[in-house]
Amino acid sequence: MKFNKSIEAFEEAYRVIPGGVDSPVRAFSSVGGTPPFIDRGEGGYLIDIDGNRYIDFVQSWGPLIFGHCDSDIEQAVEHSIKKGLSFGAPTTTETELANEIVEMFDNIDKLRFVSSGTEAVMSALRLARGYTYRDDIIKFKGCYHGHSDSLLVQAGSGATTFGTPSSPGVPADLTKHTLLATYNDIDSVKKCFEDSDGIACVIIEPIAGNMGLVPATDKFLEEIRELCNEYGALLIFDEVMSGFRASLKGSQGITTVTPDIVTWGKVIGAGMPVGAFGASAKIMARLSPEGDIYQAGTLSGNPIAMSAGLASIKKLKVNPEIYETLNQRAVRLMEGFEEGAKEAGIDIVTDTRGSMFGFFFSDKQVTNFDEALENNSKRFGEFHNKMLANGIYLACSAYETGFISTATTDEMIEESIKVAKEVMKELR
Ligand SMILES: *Cc1c(COP(=O)(O)O)cnc(C)c1O
Repeated sequence: MKFNKSIEAFEEAYRVIPGGVDSPVRAFSSVGGTPPFIDRGEGGYLIDIDGNRYIDFVQSWGPLIFGHCDSDIEQAVEHSIKKGLSFGAPTTTETELANEIVEMFDNIDKLRFVSSGTEAVMSALRLARGYTYRDDIIKFKGCYHGHSDSLLVQAGSGATTFGTPSSPGVPADLTKHTLLATYNDIDSVKKCFEDSDGIACVIIEPIAGNMGLVPATDKFLEEIRELCNEYGALLIFDEVMSGFRASLKGSQGITTVTPDIVTWGKVIGAGMPVGAFGASAKIMARLSPEGDIYQAGTLSGNPIAMSAGLASIKKLKVNPEIYETLNQRAVRLMEGFEEGAKEAGIDIVTDTRGSMFGFFFSDKQVTNFDEALENNSKRFGEFHNKMLANGIYLACSAYETGFISTATTDEMIEESIKVAKEVMKELR
């Protein structure tokens, strides 16, 4: 495989864009090598500017559950583009998409659209703080909730990869209100509640996907819910990644625990910039202009983005059985990786949730961030490079989740397993 054009493109990009990329993890820093520059997608494949074709397990970091260039979504976008790119005034598509979503959840009466996951979570946090008139929040080590100030503390994946758990430019005065707990460890959550004068909310990825794939246990989520009730704090499920991915209802299709506020992103926009946050009518009534908590956005509910999201969510709702197919493929892929590792005599642990999959080169199951850090990330880097050179595009960090799309066929899964088995034999 040749990467000449990508190498040149990366050098050129480097001159005008910091690190050559608009989001750090894309730079391949943790696995080494040059990121392929992408020309186009085709269903389950990515094609780079050198003409190399890859089986794509990143799917734009989650949004593309129907793969690249799905014709229904394309048509909806084309239709909408002809009518104008943005109006800064209400359109009926926003209401339609909001309706599709609220009717799926008993605990969500209203939601508001924004333009990214970061913005959704940042706004949800302000809502929780405003609603409770409290400042402190609890987050978990290794969970990522976007790059807003309060939440850029021990934030997993990108931040972990670069060894910068928090960042210069984030005032300590802001993060002092962010209390850190350990994932799947209820005593650490209790301690945070005891240490604080008033917790506004607990925010969690109920299926963590930004320290590798590390799901919370049901019991842990139940106990958090009880603590929140006891202390009058709100529970926020950050489902920016797991929403419409782990199941149609995200984590809420898997656990019985009910959050007060939910945030979405990624799949909700089908590849366009969309985020959203929702809650009961009572909580959402506090949001401006109904209430006094300010939140706004010039391009929020952008008509093109809404039509892409609407086409995608509608298609998911009429084909709920796809989650079973997607999960079967995820499970098969992980079984194949396990077989390969066993044959090569190396340790691996794997997990799946719906269309999400994750694996660590480690000899024990991972339940929290510190355990995730014990994986052999050097081995991951080598595995990643060799998989890429053989046409398999995996996320370029040991702390990311992989994604299956409906365009990722059984044949593509078998092909990927075949390559993985060969590659694992060569790993040190
Ligand atoms: C991706 C992600 C975000 C941030 O979303 P952006 O669209 O990248 O701003 C927030 N929370 C979780 C759980 C995510 O996976």
